[in-house]
Amino acid sequence: MIAVSIALLQHVTSVPLARALRPRSCHAVSAPSRKLSASSPSRATHVDPHVLLGMTEPELQQVAVDLGQQGYRGKQLHHLIYKRKIKDIQEFIQLPQAFRNNLQEAGWTVGRSPIYQTVTAADGTVKLLLKLEDNRLIETVGIPVEVEKGAMRLTACVSSQVGCPLKCSFCATGKGGFSRNLKRHEIIEQVLAIEEIFKHRVTNVVFMGMGEPMLNLKSVLEAHRCLNKDIQIGQRMITISTVGVPNTIKKLASHKLQSTLALSLHAPNQKLRESIVPSAKSYPLEAIMKDCKEYFLETNRRVSFEYALLAGVNDAVDHAVELAEMLHEWGRGHHVNLIPFNPIEGSEYKRPYNKAVQAFAAALESRKITVSVRQTRGLDASAACGQLRNEFQKSPLRIDSNNTSQSESDIAVAC
Ligand code: SF4
Repeated sequence: MIAVSIALLQHVTSVPLARALRPRSCHAVSAPSRKLSASSPSRATHVDPHVLLGMTEPELQQVAVDLGQQGYRGKQLHHLIYKRKIKDIQEFIQLPQAFRNNLQEAGWTVGRSPIYQTVTAADGTVKLLLKLEDNRLIETVGIPVEVEKGAMRLTACVSSQVGCPLKCSFCATGKGGFSRNLKRHEIIEQVLAIEEIFKHRVTNVVFMGMGEPMLNLKSVLEAHRCLNKDIQIGQRMITISTVGVPNTIKKLASHKLQSTLALSLHAPNQKLRESIVPSAKSYPLEAIMKDCKEYFLETNRRVSFEYALLAGVNDAVDHAVELAEMLHEWGRGHHVNLIPFNPIEGSEYKRPYNKAVQAFAAALESRKITVSVRQTRGLDASAACGQLRNEFQKSPLRIDSNNTSQSESDIAVAC
């Protein structure tokens, strides 16, 4: 969903193919040996019980107790993982060596992946490729903006899936196919990796990277909890984006998060939307708008409508008028983000002229719809949204020790 939603750099400097193909030794991590009592807080942990990242402080305390330590060691673990952001158990030097060894022997890891590649655009945007345990690469983007003297807003644009099954017509990720959902720690670690690169706290998180967050809602919600409670990023600083998956907006609303919902709309009517977003066939616009209204009523958080402007397709003033009418029909609490399309190789779509973008925005504003035109980041490095695929599709991104062939679903790209 990064895709058009955030125009970002996507240029990856060329890496010798041999490096790209270097096999990674597999290390099998055995399941932890700990046993949980019925009242154990660890029972709340549903994901990767051998990964520390993503666990709450009570859960970490339970891990310590299960390994014969006192509960306060869990508090220390929490501090080391989330405040000190240490990546390796053996670097927890505040903990006794025996405890560190026990953790490792029981199969625990912190859950941080190596940074495989970084590319920096002239505007400071940085794209990272993280290499996951199964050798898949995912990308995440750090977008720095100077807000006032010396202060920086650092936005992490995170992926929720490896690839995406939804195949939006303008999106490079959709064209690259789907591999798997990300686990919660694989979402959280993207934020920590960006902090590591920028040596700065991430202030904002947008779930607009690879994948449809609502198709991996459980992990997204768990990551959201951790980002908010453990890493201390305000809920209001987190945006969850979706192109629309039936029954999930209501589910998200029921959690009453104080986070923004961003709906990738891209068209003011069902027919046009279906031609741009094929998955829209199963979720009529009227039903989506109803669910967005409920999200607003449940959370009192406005819904942001993302609208990729595709030249000659959905960028006419008439479309803006139709959009304004539809939004008024569904009440208040709306904001429209216009995203002039970033051309990708082989795409049938073109970027609209600035004049068309301005006319579209003006038509909305004159009808009292708040609107912003998203600034494109990273285009100077041929790296705007959706372009990484053009750089990497021909390169194997997943390396199995006994199979070096590439399949579409192995291609980790952001749209
Ligand atoms: S194909 Fe997937 S990642 Fe791309 S815009 Fe659509 S939902 Fe987002």
